[in-house]
Amino acid sequence: MTTALHKYSKHLSIKNLILEICKCFDQIPDNRPNNCSNGIPFSNFAKSAFAMMHQKYDSMLSFDTDQAEPVLQHNLETLYHVKDGRVPSDTHMREILDPIDPVEFRKPFKKLFSLIQRNKLLKNFEFKCGNLKDCYLMAVDGTGLFYSGECRCNECCVKNEGKSNESYYHNLMGGCIVHPG
Ligand SMILES: [Zn+2]
Repeated sequence: MTTALHKYSKHLSIKNLILEICKCFDQIPDNRPNNCSNGIPFSNFAKSAFAMMHQKYDSMLSFDTDQAEPVLQHNLETLYHVKDGRVPSDTHMREILDPIDPVEFRKPFKKLFSLIQRNKLLKNFEFKCGNLKDCYLMAVDGTGLFYSGECRCNECCVKNEGKSNESYYHNLMGGCIVHPG
């Protein structure tokens, strides 16, 4: 397997990839009743949440606390394109992001995947196995990402329905293209 990532550094630099993701967030329709013209710009909610996940914060609270840090402020504005550095509080972030159609968050994935495809980087992952040629190998795994005996949303899976120990959960399955070599 050859790695030729350096050849594509211009288009596929982390800075550009983040920019592409942020452009997708700019397209999400504002779900606030009056669009809050003087409030926090709508795309700042998704961009801040993405920055929080990307910077691997272990909680929304610690992200909230760190916002005053000049380095984080600088990165939020320059790297994650959070307009005027206005980051919502954790409660506000949940309120605004929860009702957004998950389809909107598929778009950045598709965008990045098509960039990788267009730059022919998937070629590096093709492999032959017996009579099979030009195959890709995808490793998948499932995990739980939410569980509660009290809180639920409309999309929750329900365990022990109707019983005293009724509980709510979400699972996810993630896939990753890998190469046997
Ligand atoms: Zn739920």
